[in-house]
Amino acid sequence: MTLADQRNLTKSNAQFQRALKRLPLGVASSFRYWGDDRTIYVARGKGGRIWDIDGNGYVDYRLGYGPAILGYADARVDAAARKGMEVGGVFALSTERELTVADRIAKMVPGMDLVRYSNSGTEAVMAALRLARAHTGRDSYLLVEGGYHGLFDAAMWMADVEDWEAGSNRDPDIISYSKGIPQTLKSLAHLVPMNNMQRLEDVFRRYGNTMAAMLIEPIQGNCCGILATPEYVRLARKLCDEYGVLLIIDEVKTGFRVARGGIQSLLGVTPDISTFAKAMANGYPIAAIAGREDVMRTFGYNGAAHGGTYTAHSVSIAAAEECLRILDETDALANLATYGKTLQNGIAKILDDRNIVHSFTGHDSMFGLFFAEKAPDNYRDWKKSDYTFYDTMAHHLHDLGIIVEPDSREPWFMCEAHDQSCLSDTLKAVEIAVDQTQQDLEDAARS
Ligand code: PLP
Repeated sequence: MTLADQRNLTKSNAQFQRALKRLPLGVASSFRYWGDDRTIYVARGKGGRIWDIDGNGYVDYRLGYGPAILGYADARVDAAARKGMEVGGVFALSTERELTVADRIAKMVPGMDLVRYSNSGTEAVMAALRLARAHTGRDSYLLVEGGYHGLFDAAMWMADVEDWEAGSNRDPDIISYSKGIPQTLKSLAHLVPMNNMQRLEDVFRRYGNTMAAMLIEPIQGNCCGILATPEYVRLARKLCDEYGVLLIIDEVKTGFRVARGGIQSLLGVTPDISTFAKAMANGYPIAAIAGREDVMRTFGYNGAAHGGTYTAHSVSIAAAEECLRILDETDALANLATYGKTLQNGIAKILDDRNIVHSFTGHDSMFGLFFAEKAPDNYRDWKKSDYTFYDTMAHHLHDLGIIVEPDSREPWFMCEAHDQSCLSDTLKAVEIAVDQTQQDLEDAARS
Protein backbone atom coordinates (compact mmCIF):
# COMPACT_ATOMS: atom_id res chain seq x y z
CA MET A 1 0.00 0.00 0.00
CA THR A 2 1.42 3.41 -0.95
CA LEU A 3 0.88 6.64 0.97
CA ALA A 4 -1.45 7.78 -1.84
CA ASP A 5 -3.74 4.83 -1.05
CA GLN A 6 -4.34 6.26 2.43
CA ARG A 7 -6.20 9.20 0.97
CA ASN A 8 -9.50 8.80 -0.80
CA LEU A 9 -10.02 11.43 -3.51
CA THR A 10 -13.03 9.83 -5.19
CA LYS A 11 -15.25 12.90 -4.90
CA SER A 12 -12.52 15.37 -5.87
CA ASN A 13 -11.63 13.24 -8.90
CA ALA A 14 -15.28 13.11 -9.98
CA GLN A 15 -15.66 16.86 -9.42
CA PHE A 16 -12.55 17.43 -11.53
CA GLN A 17 -14.02 15.46 -14.44
CA ARG A 18 -17.27 17.46 -14.23
CA ALA A 19 -15.49 20.81 -13.79
CA LEU A 20 -13.23 20.16 -16.75
CA LYS A 21 -16.25 20.46 -19.04
CA ARG A 22 -16.93 24.05 -17.93
CA LEU A 23 -13.69 25.40 -16.36
CA PRO A 24 -10.27 25.36 -18.11
CA LEU A 25 -8.12 22.81 -16.22
CA GLY A 26 -11.15 22.27 -13.98
CA VAL A 27 -10.22 25.18 -11.72
CA ALA A 28 -10.63 28.95 -11.28
CA SER A 29 -6.89 29.75 -11.18
CA SER A 30 -4.33 27.67 -13.08
CA PHE A 31 -2.11 27.22 -9.99
CA ARG A 32 -4.90 25.18 -8.39
CA TYR A 33 -4.59 22.38 -10.92
CA TRP A 34 -2.39 19.70 -9.33
CA GLY A 35 -2.90 16.94 -11.92
CA ASP A 36 -6.00 15.10 -13.11
CA ASP A 37 -6.11 12.77 -10.11
CA ARG A 38 -4.59 15.07 -7.45
CA THR A 39 -6.58 18.28 -7.88
CA ILE A 40 -8.61 18.72 -4.71
CA TYR A 41 -11.78 20.67 -4.06
CA VAL A 42 -12.20 22.29 -0.68
CA ALA A 43 -15.34 21.90 1.41
CA ARG A 44 -14.27 24.34 4.13
CA GLY A 45 -11.46 25.78 6.20
CA LYS A 46 -11.25 26.60 9.90
CA GLY A 47 -8.22 27.84 11.81
CA GLY A 48 -5.03 26.32 10.38
CA ARG A 49 -6.84 23.44 8.69
CA ILE A 50 -8.90 22.72 5.58
CA TRP A 51 -11.14 19.79 4.62
CA ASP A 52 -11.71 18.56 1.08
CA ILE A 53 -15.01 17.28 -0.31
CA ASP A 54 -13.98 13.66 0.43
CA GLY A 55 -13.64 14.58 4.10
CA ASN A 56 -9.83 14.48 4.19
CA GLY A 57 -8.47 17.01 6.69
CA TYR A 58 -5.20 18.87 6.19
CA VAL A 59 -2.99 21.23 8.17
CA ASP A 60 -2.57 24.02 5.65
CA TYR A 61 0.70 25.91 5.10
CA ARG A 62 -0.38 27.58 1.86
CA LEU A 63 -3.19 29.55 3.47
CA GLY A 64 -4.41 30.67 0.08
CA TYR A 65 -0.84 31.90 -0.68
CA GLY A 66 -0.75 33.82 2.55
CA PRO A 67 -3.96 35.74 3.20
CA ALA A 68 -5.35 33.69 6.08
CA ILE A 69 -2.91 35.23 8.57
CA LEU A 70 -5.21 34.65 11.56
CA GLY A 71 -6.55 31.34 10.25
CA TYR A 72 -9.60 30.45 8.19
CA ALA A 73 -13.04 31.70 9.22
CA ASP A 74 -11.68 33.87 12.00
CA ALA A 75 -14.72 34.79 14.11
CA ARG A 76 -13.53 38.36 14.82
CA VAL A 77 -12.86 39.29 11.19
CA ASP A 78 -15.96 37.50 9.92
CA ALA A 79 -18.16 39.38 12.40
CA ALA A 80 -16.67 42.65 11.13
CA ALA A 81 -17.24 41.57 7.53
CA ARG A 82 -20.90 40.85 8.34
CA LYS A 83 -21.26 44.39 9.66
CA GLY A 84 -19.63 45.58 6.44
CA MET A 85 -22.24 43.62 4.49
CA GLU A 86 -24.98 45.60 6.22
CA VAL A 87 -23.42 48.79 4.86
CA GLY A 88 -24.52 47.71 1.41
CA GLY A 89 -21.61 46.82 -0.87
CA VAL A 90 -20.33 49.38 -3.37
CA PHE A 91 -21.82 52.74 -4.20
CA ALA A 92 -19.37 54.41 -6.59
CA LEU A 93 -18.99 56.72 -3.60
CA SER A 94 -16.75 56.66 -0.55
CA THR A 95 -17.35 55.46 3.01
CA GLU A 96 -15.75 56.59 6.27
CA ARG A 97 -13.90 53.31 6.86
CA GLU A 98 -11.53 54.01 3.96
CA LEU A 99 -9.90 56.71 6.06
CA THR A 100 -9.88 54.63 9.27
CA VAL A 101 -8.03 51.84 7.50
CA ALA A 102 -5.64 54.27 5.76
CA ASP A 103 -4.85 55.81 9.17
CA ARG A 104 -4.09 52.34 10.54
CA ILE A 105 -1.79 51.54 7.60
CA ALA A 106 0.04 54.86 8.01
CA LYS A 107 0.47 54.11 11.74
CA MET A 108 1.75 50.59 11.18
CA VAL A 109 4.08 51.34 8.26
CA PRO A 110 6.08 54.54 8.70
CA GLY A 111 6.49 56.54 5.49
CA MET A 112 3.19 55.41 3.97
CA ASP A 113 1.67 58.90 3.98
CA LEU A 114 -1.24 58.33 1.64
CA VAL A 115 -3.21 55.25 0.65
CA ARG A 116 -5.38 54.04 -2.23
CA TYR A 117 -7.13 50.66 -2.45
CA SER A 118 -7.37 47.88 -5.01
CA ASN A 119 -8.97 44.44 -4.99
CA SER A 120 -5.89 42.26 -5.54
CA GLY A 121 -2.12 42.32 -5.41
CA THR A 122 -1.94 42.39 -9.20
CA GLU A 123 -4.16 45.44 -9.42
CA ALA A 124 -2.19 47.21 -6.69
CA VAL A 125 1.20 46.65 -8.33
CA MET A 126 -0.22 47.59 -11.73
CA ALA A 127 -1.44 50.87 -10.22
CA ALA A 128 1.89 51.43 -8.46
CA LEU A 129 3.83 51.07 -11.70
CA ARG A 130 1.42 53.38 -13.52
CA LEU A 131 1.82 55.89 -10.70
CA ALA A 132 5.62 55.71 -10.95
CA ARG A 133 5.48 56.19 -14.71
CA ALA A 134 3.11 59.13 -14.38
CA HIS A 135 5.24 60.73 -11.67
CA THR A 136 8.56 60.35 -13.47
CA GLY A 137 7.39 60.61 -17.09
CA ARG A 138 9.46 57.50 -17.88
CA ASP A 139 8.40 54.08 -19.19
CA SER A 140 10.99 51.40 -18.41
CA TYR A 141 11.48 49.68 -15.06
CA LEU A 142 13.67 47.21 -13.23
CA LEU A 143 12.66 43.82 -11.86
CA VAL A 144 14.67 41.41 -9.71
CA GLU A 145 15.09 37.83 -10.93
CA GLY A 146 12.82 35.44 -9.02
CA GLY A 147 10.39 38.22 -8.08
CA TYR A 148 6.68 37.94 -8.79
CA HIS A 149 4.38 40.92 -8.94
CA GLY A 150 1.16 39.47 -10.30
CA LEU A 151 -0.37 38.58 -13.61
CA PHE A 152 -0.25 41.75 -15.70
CA ASP A 153 1.80 42.16 -18.86
CA ALA A 154 4.52 44.49 -17.52
CA ALA A 155 5.28 42.20 -14.57
CA MET A 156 5.34 38.97 -16.55
CA TRP A 157 9.00 38.91 -17.58
CA MET A 158 11.29 36.44 -15.91
CA ALA A 159 14.77 34.94 -16.02
CA ASP A 160 14.60 31.54 -17.70
CA VAL A 161 16.54 29.72 -15.02
CA GLU A 162 14.97 26.34 -15.80
CA ASP A 163 16.65 26.32 -19.22
CA TRP A 164 19.90 27.78 -17.96
CA GLU A 165 23.00 25.93 -16.94
CA ALA A 166 23.76 26.51 -13.25
CA GLY A 167 27.06 28.34 -12.86
CA SER A 168 27.12 29.50 -16.46
CA ASN A 169 28.66 32.93 -16.93
CA ARG A 170 25.95 33.99 -19.35
CA ASP A 171 22.73 35.51 -18.01
CA PRO A 172 19.55 33.47 -18.28
CA ASP A 173 17.31 34.56 -21.15
CA ILE A 174 14.48 36.94 -20.34
CA ILE A 175 11.21 35.25 -21.25
CA SER A 176 7.54 36.00 -20.66
CA TYR A 177 5.64 33.94 -18.07
CA SER A 178 3.09 32.86 -20.61
CA LYS A 179 1.84 33.20 -24.12
CA GLY A 180 -0.19 36.32 -24.79
CA ILE A 181 2.33 38.87 -23.55
CA PRO A 182 3.21 41.31 -26.36
CA GLN A 183 6.91 40.88 -27.13
CA THR A 184 7.10 44.59 -27.97
CA LEU A 185 6.87 45.27 -24.21
CA LYS A 186 10.02 43.29 -23.45
CA SER A 187 12.40 46.18 -24.10
CA LEU A 188 10.85 48.15 -21.22
CA ALA A 189 11.69 45.53 -18.58
CA HIS A 190 15.21 45.17 -17.19
CA LEU A 191 16.17 42.33 -14.87
CA VAL A 192 18.96 41.97 -12.30
CA PRO A 193 20.00 39.05 -10.10
CA MET A 194 19.18 39.54 -6.41
CA ASN A 195 21.99 40.57 -4.06
CA ASN A 196 24.57 41.30 -6.76
CA MET A 197 25.59 44.87 -5.92
CA GLN A 198 27.87 45.25 -8.94
CA ARG A 199 25.16 44.24 -11.40
CA LEU A 200 22.73 46.63 -9.74
CA GLU A 201 25.12 49.54 -10.13
CA ASP A 202 25.78 48.56 -13.76
CA VAL A 203 22.12 48.49 -14.69
CA PHE A 204 21.47 51.89 -13.10
CA ARG A 205 24.53 53.32 -14.90
CA ARG A 206 23.17 52.07 -18.23
CA TYR A 207 19.42 52.60 -17.86
CA GLY A 208 18.91 54.63 -14.65
CA ASN A 209 17.97 57.84 -16.46
CA THR A 210 15.16 56.14 -18.39
CA MET A 211 13.65 53.97 -15.64
CA ALA A 212 10.48 54.96 -13.80
CA ALA A 213 10.76 52.38 -11.03
CA MET A 214 12.59 49.50 -9.46
CA LEU A 215 10.27 46.80 -8.10
CA ILE A 216 11.56 44.51 -5.41
CA GLU A 217 10.23 41.91 -2.98
CA PRO A 218 12.95 41.84 -0.30
CA ILE A 219 11.63 38.43 0.74
CA GLN A 220 10.75 36.71 -2.50
CA GLY A 221 7.38 35.28 -1.63
CA ASN A 222 7.16 33.25 -4.80
CA CYS A 223 10.77 32.15 -4.91
CA CYS A 224 11.55 30.18 -1.79
CA GLY A 225 11.54 33.23 0.48
CA ILE A 226 14.93 34.30 -0.87
CA LEU A 227 16.10 37.28 1.17
CA ALA A 228 17.58 40.52 -0.07
CA THR A 229 20.47 41.61 2.13
CA PRO A 230 19.93 44.96 3.90
CA GLU A 231 22.97 46.33 2.02
CA TYR A 232 21.40 45.40 -1.30
CA VAL A 233 18.12 47.15 -0.53
CA ARG A 234 19.98 50.17 0.87
CA LEU A 235 22.02 50.35 -2.34
CA ALA A 236 18.80 50.13 -4.36
CA ARG A 237 17.39 53.04 -2.31
CA LYS A 238 20.55 55.10 -2.89
CA LEU A 239 20.67 54.42 -6.64
CA CYS A 240 16.97 55.19 -7.03
CA ASP A 241 17.53 58.56 -5.33
CA GLU A 242 20.57 59.27 -7.48
CA TYR A 243 18.82 58.52 -10.78
CA GLY A 244 15.32 59.79 -9.96
CA VAL A 245 13.86 56.27 -10.06
CA LEU A 246 11.00 55.39 -7.67
CA LEU A 247 11.57 52.43 -5.37
CA ILE A 248 8.52 50.17 -5.15
CA ILE A 249 8.70 47.58 -2.37
CA ASP A 250 6.10 44.96 -3.13
CA GLU A 251 4.80 43.77 0.24
CA VAL A 252 1.81 41.88 -1.13
CA LYS A 253 2.98 38.79 0.77
CA THR A 254 5.24 40.26 3.47
CA GLY A 255 3.07 43.24 4.46
CA PHE A 256 1.41 42.95 7.90
CA ARG A 257 2.96 39.46 8.14
CA VAL A 258 6.70 39.56 8.81
CA ALA A 259 6.24 42.61 11.05
CA ARG A 260 3.55 45.22 11.66
CA GLY A 261 5.53 47.53 9.36
CA GLY A 262 6.39 44.82 6.84
CA ILE A 263 9.83 43.87 5.57
CA GLN A 264 10.65 47.53 4.92
CA SER A 265 10.49 48.22 8.65
CA LEU A 266 12.85 45.33 9.38
CA LEU A 267 15.29 46.58 6.75
CA GLY A 268 14.95 50.22 7.74
CA VAL A 269 14.42 51.26 4.11
CA THR A 270 11.44 53.42 3.13
CA PRO A 271 10.25 52.99 -0.43
CA ASP A 272 8.53 55.70 -2.46
CA ILE A 273 5.60 53.39 -3.10
CA SER A 274 4.57 50.13 -1.50
CA THR A 275 1.91 47.57 -2.26
CA PHE A 276 0.04 45.43 0.29
CA ALA A 277 -2.63 42.78 -0.04
CA LYS A 278 -2.70 39.27 1.34
CA ALA A 279 -2.64 39.68 5.12
CA MET A 280 -4.67 42.89 5.12
CA ALA A 281 -8.10 41.38 5.65
CA ASN A 282 -7.55 37.69 6.46
CA GLY A 283 -8.60 36.66 2.96
CA TYR A 284 -11.28 39.19 2.03
CA PRO A 285 -10.29 40.75 -1.30
CA ILE A 286 -8.59 44.06 -0.74
CA ALA A 287 -5.15 45.53 -1.49
CA ALA A 288 -3.47 48.88 -0.98
CA ILE A 289 -1.03 51.15 -2.75
CA ALA A 290 0.64 53.51 -0.31
CA GLY A 291 3.58 55.85 -0.31
CA ARG A 292 5.19 59.23 -0.15
CA GLU A 293 2.79 62.13 -0.26
CA ASP A 294 4.07 63.96 -3.37
CA VAL A 295 4.19 60.69 -5.32
CA MET A 296 0.75 59.52 -4.19
CA ARG A 297 -0.82 62.86 -5.07
CA THR A 298 0.00 62.05 -8.70
CA PHE A 299 -3.18 59.95 -8.49
CA GLY A 300 -5.91 62.35 -9.46
CA TYR A 301 -7.40 64.22 -12.35
CA ASN A 302 -4.69 64.91 -14.97
CA GLY A 303 -2.39 62.47 -13.16
CA ALA A 304 -2.34 58.68 -13.00
CA ALA A 305 -5.75 57.06 -13.40
CA HIS A 306 -6.86 54.89 -10.51
CA GLY A 307 -10.22 53.48 -9.54
CA GLY A 308 -12.46 50.46 -9.95
CA THR A 309 -16.06 49.56 -9.31
CA TYR A 310 -15.34 47.20 -6.40
CA THR A 311 -12.52 49.20 -4.79
CA ALA A 312 -12.92 49.39 -0.98
CA HIS A 313 -16.04 47.22 -1.01
CA SER A 314 -17.87 47.62 2.31
CA VAL A 315 -17.27 43.97 3.29
CA SER A 316 -13.55 43.98 2.52
CA ILE A 317 -12.81 47.35 4.09
CA ALA A 318 -14.63 46.33 7.29
CA ALA A 319 -12.66 43.07 7.37
CA ALA A 320 -9.42 45.01 6.83
CA GLU A 321 -10.27 47.37 9.67
CA GLU A 322 -10.62 44.47 12.11
CA CYS A 323 -7.78 42.32 10.77
CA LEU A 324 -5.28 45.19 10.88
CA ARG A 325 -6.49 46.16 14.35
CA ILE A 326 -5.76 42.63 15.58
CA LEU A 327 -2.35 42.51 13.90
CA ASP A 328 -1.45 45.93 15.29
CA GLU A 329 -2.81 45.59 18.83
CA THR A 330 -2.18 41.94 19.75
CA ASP A 331 0.78 39.52 19.72
CA ALA A 332 -0.62 37.58 16.75
CA LEU A 333 2.43 38.18 14.54
CA ALA A 334 4.94 37.27 17.25
CA ASN A 335 2.97 34.12 18.07
CA LEU A 336 2.72 32.85 14.52
CA ALA A 337 6.43 33.54 13.96
CA THR A 338 7.23 31.52 17.10
CA TYR A 339 5.14 28.66 15.70
CA GLY A 340 7.14 28.91 12.44
CA LYS A 341 10.43 28.75 14.34
CA THR A 342 9.30 25.73 16.38
CA LEU A 343 8.17 24.00 13.20
CA GLN A 344 11.52 24.66 11.51
CA ASN A 345 13.35 23.26 14.57
CA GLY A 346 11.19 20.14 14.46
CA ILE A 347 11.79 19.60 10.74
CA ALA A 348 15.52 20.27 11.19
CA LYS A 349 15.74 17.58 13.87
CA ILE A 350 14.05 15.00 11.62
CA LEU A 351 16.42 15.84 8.76
CA ASP A 352 19.53 16.04 10.96
CA ASP A 353 18.75 12.62 12.45
CA ARG A 354 18.94 11.28 8.89
CA ASN A 355 21.97 13.36 7.87
CA ILE A 356 19.95 15.14 5.22
CA VAL A 357 21.55 18.45 4.32
CA HIS A 358 19.07 21.30 4.41
CA SER A 359 18.56 24.97 5.20
CA PHE A 360 15.76 27.47 5.69
CA THR A 361 15.30 30.96 4.36
CA GLY A 362 12.78 33.79 4.46
CA HIS A 363 11.13 34.68 7.76
CA ASP A 364 9.74 32.46 10.50
CA SER A 365 6.23 33.47 9.39
CA MET A 366 6.88 32.46 5.75
CA PHE A 367 9.87 30.25 5.19
CA GLY A 368 11.45 28.26 2.39
CA LEU A 369 12.93 24.78 2.95
CA PHE A 370 15.93 23.75 0.90
CA PHE A 371 17.85 20.59 0.45
CA ALA A 372 21.21 22.35 0.20
CA GLU A 373 23.76 23.44 2.80
CA LYS A 374 23.12 27.09 2.23
CA ALA A 375 19.83 28.66 1.25
CA PRO A 376 20.04 30.42 -2.09
CA ASP A 377 20.42 34.18 -2.02
CA ASN A 378 19.28 34.57 -5.61
CA TYR A 379 17.04 32.72 -8.03
CA ARG A 380 19.94 31.29 -10.03
CA ASP A 381 21.16 29.42 -6.93
CA TRP A 382 17.79 27.75 -6.42
CA LYS A 383 18.75 25.55 -9.37
CA LYS A 384 21.64 24.16 -7.36
CA SER A 385 19.41 22.89 -4.53
CA ASP A 386 17.86 19.42 -4.60
CA TYR A 387 14.35 20.45 -5.44
CA THR A 388 13.52 16.90 -6.61
CA PHE A 389 13.65 15.84 -2.95
CA TYR A 390 11.32 18.68 -2.00
CA ASP A 391 8.88 18.06 -4.83
CA THR A 392 8.64 14.33 -4.02
CA MET A 393 8.25 14.99 -0.30
CA ALA A 394 5.51 17.58 -0.91
CA HIS A 395 3.36 15.01 -2.69
CA HIS A 396 3.73 12.58 0.19
CA LEU A 397 2.81 15.33 2.64
CA HIS A 398 -0.44 15.91 0.77
CA ASP A 399 -1.29 12.23 1.09
CA LEU A 400 -0.51 12.46 4.81
CA GLY A 401 -2.75 15.46 5.43
CA ILE A 402 -0.35 18.38 5.19
CA ILE A 403 -0.80 20.99 2.49
CA VAL A 404 2.35 22.69 1.23
CA GLU A 405 2.98 24.03 -2.24
CA PRO A 406 4.13 21.19 -4.52
CA ASP A 407 6.74 23.56 -5.98
CA SER A 408 9.71 24.34 -3.71
CA ARG A 409 9.61 27.97 -4.83
CA GLU A 410 6.56 28.73 -2.73
CA PRO A 411 7.24 29.26 0.99
CA TRP A 412 5.32 27.73 3.86
CA PHE A 413 2.96 30.21 5.51
CA MET A 414 2.07 30.34 9.20
CA CYS A 415 -1.14 31.65 10.75
CA GLU A 416 -2.15 32.58 14.27
CA ALA A 417 -4.47 29.56 14.47
CA HIS A 418 -1.73 26.97 13.90
CA ASP A 419 -1.57 25.26 17.27
CA GLN A 420 0.13 22.43 19.10
CA SER A 421 -2.06 19.79 17.41
CA CYS A 422 -1.16 21.20 13.97
CA LEU A 423 2.49 21.07 14.95
CA SER A 424 2.49 17.48 16.13
CA ASP A 425 0.42 16.30 13.13
CA THR A 426 2.86 18.08 10.81
CA LEU A 427 6.01 16.66 12.36
CA LYS A 428 4.63 13.12 12.37
CA ALA A 429 3.82 13.47 8.68
CA VAL A 430 7.18 15.04 7.81
CA GLU A 431 8.99 12.11 9.36
CA ILE A 432 7.06 9.59 7.26
CA ALA A 433 7.27 11.71 4.09
CA VAL A 434 11.04 12.16 4.41
CA ASP A 435 11.61 8.41 4.84
CA GLN A 436 9.35 7.62 1.91
CA THR A 437 11.09 10.22 -0.25
CA GLN A 438 14.50 8.73 0.53
CA GLN A 439 13.12 5.33 -0.38
CA ASP A 440 11.61 6.62 -3.65
CA LEU A 441 14.82 8.32 -4.71
CA GLU A 442 16.89 5.24 -3.87
CA ASP A 443 14.48 3.07 -5.89
CA ALA A 444 14.64 5.53 -8.80
CA ALA A 445 18.46 5.54 -8.70
CA ARG A 446 18.53 1.72 -8.80
CA SER A 447 16.12 1.37 -11.71
N1 PLP B 1 2.97 40.69 -5.68
C1 PLP B 1 3.44 39.69 -4.93
C2 PLP B 1 4.72 39.87 -4.17
C3 PLP B 1 2.73 38.50 -4.82
O1 PLP B 1 3.20 37.51 -4.06
C4 PLP B 1 1.52 38.36 -5.54
C5 PLP B 1 0.75 37.11 -5.47
O2 PLP B 1 1.17 36.10 -5.01
C6 PLP B 1 1.07 39.43 -6.30
C7 PLP B 1 1.81 40.58 -6.35
C8 PLP B 1 -0.24 39.32 -7.04
O3 PLP B 1 -1.28 39.29 -6.12
P1 PLP B 1 -2.72 38.70 -6.50
O4 PLP B 1 -2.56 37.25 -6.67
O5 PLP B 1 -3.58 39.10 -5.35
O6 PLP B 1 -3.14 39.37 -7.76
